Amino acid sequence: MNNNIEQLDVAIIGAGLTGLAAAHYVRKSDKKIAIFEKQDRCGGVINTATQNGFTFEEGPNTGIVGTPEVADLFEELKDLCELEIANDEVDKRYILKDSKWEALPSGLIAGIKTPLFSLKDKFRLLGEPFRPKGKNPHESLAELVKRRLGQSLLDYAIDPFILGVYSGDPSILVPKYALPKLYNLEQNYGSFIGGAIKKKFEKKDKEAKKATRKVFSTKGGLSSLTNALYKSVGENNFYFNSNQLVVKPENGKYHISVSIDGETKEFIANDVITTTGAFALPEILPFIDGNEIKKLTSLYYARVIEVILGFENWKGFPLDGFGGLIPHKEKRDVLGVLFLSTLLKNRAPKNGALLTLFIGGVRRDELVDLSDEEIIRLVEREVKELMQLDEFSPELFKIIRHNKAIPQYGVDSGERFETIYHLESKYPGLILGGNMRNGIGMADRITQGKQMANRVLNK
Ligand SMILES: Cc1cc2nc3c(=O)[nH]c(=O)nc-3n(C[C@H](O)[C@H](O)[C@H](O)COP(=O)(O)OP(=O)(O)OC[C@H]3O[C@@H](n4cnc5c(N)ncnc54)[C@H](O)[C@@H]3O)c2cc1C
Repeated sequence: MNNNIEQLDVAIIGAGLTGLAAAHYVRKSDKKIAIFEKQDRCGGVINTATQNGFTFEEGPNTGIVGTPEVADLFEELKDLCELEIANDEVDKRYILKDSKWEALPSGLIAGIKTPLFSLKDKFRLLGEPFRPKGKNPHESLAELVKRRLGQSLLDYAIDPFILGVYSGDPSILVPKYALPKLYNLEQNYGSFIGGAIKKKFEKKDKEAKKATRKVFSTKGGLSSLTNALYKSVGENNFYFNSNQLVVKPENGKYHISVSIDGETKEFIANDVITTTGAFALPEILPFIDGNEIKKLTSLYYARVIEVILGFENWKGFPLDGFGGLIPHKEKRDVLGVLFLSTLLKNRAPKNGALLTLFIGGVRRDELVDLSDEEIIRLVEREVKELMQLDEFSPELFKIIRHNKAIPQYGVDSGERFETIYHLESKYPGLILGGNMRNGIGMADRITQGKQMANRVLNK
């Protein structure tokens, strides 16, 4: 045996939220692990920065405490970081219609009064519980919503919601994979409205009660969460600047070769967990058959530009909510804007404002190719009008480009998941995680990380 080859129980590839959560739970055992990360820091797309009195995110901004695993993780890390639940104003969400912000209705009276939806669709809603269940598991989200709720609810509720979460297109996303909770409401209860009401009255055990709709961040920004995980895992277990990482099966285990700071290192691991995007896998797992790897890499990732704006003295539209989303029908160049200094503490100086805008996505992909100068002009034009500013002179202006941002779970997802199951059974000890399966949100990533760790620990 080559003595320079280090023996590992578990190798984790990628130190984003998924890899960190998996490592945190594997480390509850005495297993020897290593986390290989291409960048020189952990966190992946999560990256908090501070400048001129503003604390802002360069990736995800807030998550939902939508699974018990999120609540548990923050509880376990409470000595290392502090969960921050967003301000109550989070419930007020604006949607742009005819160039005017309208609050998304949250109750019956507001729902009747709102100009967002047509009178016909408001009446149609009364019949929603009696409409038959869909039979096509590959029906698009747009088709499902038109069938059950009507065109105006698709255009002014679901479409902007999908822009906010997926930067996506409801006619491409398939609810069975992209929004399984919504899909299951129809499949299990026969109706969205009836299902939501019944679910509200269902008895929940202590564990299920931990999952809420609360919006979270971490005090000081989301990097405080990933840095806390880094510490809990143990700094010595990380290999940053890991390049040209290649995994190969060898005698029932996995051989890993990787170039770290220009030096090639070799490892043998019993288990390998990948958490990178699907696009990175051909290089990492060259032994996988070309047709099979194509079924993973065919997953399309939307490109998005995130623009962060900080104003020391805000004089525009009152920022009394979560933010505003802009339906595709409105034909604007911005997908939406988040009012982060309203939602979270200490993000901007007193009387100031921190806003984050999104540009691009599946249906406006061409905008991502604009130069920085063109983006600056676009943002000035759009923000002045949308946020009712006489003068546009932000103290902070940052453009962050995400070229592989959000995976779009479309009609090919079923085949992708089948391929993943097949590969994991063909290569025992290989676990293919990350956002190509099990959901895209931060809560999904934490949950998947824990599940993958359990698979390794319970072997
Ligand atoms: C712009 C943007 C906004 C978002 N907003 C939200 C939001 O508001 N709320 C929410 O819940 N979710 C949001 N998300 C989703 C978010 O991406 C996930 O919740 C989560 O942070 C992804 O974590 P991950 O570990 O799966 O992937 P990543 O963070 O992408 O981590 C993967 C890691 O693998 C590393 N890597 C890649 N290739 C290799 C290789 N060959 N060798 C070694 N390492 C490698 C990468 O460098 C990276 O660090 C957003 C995503 C983006 C891009």
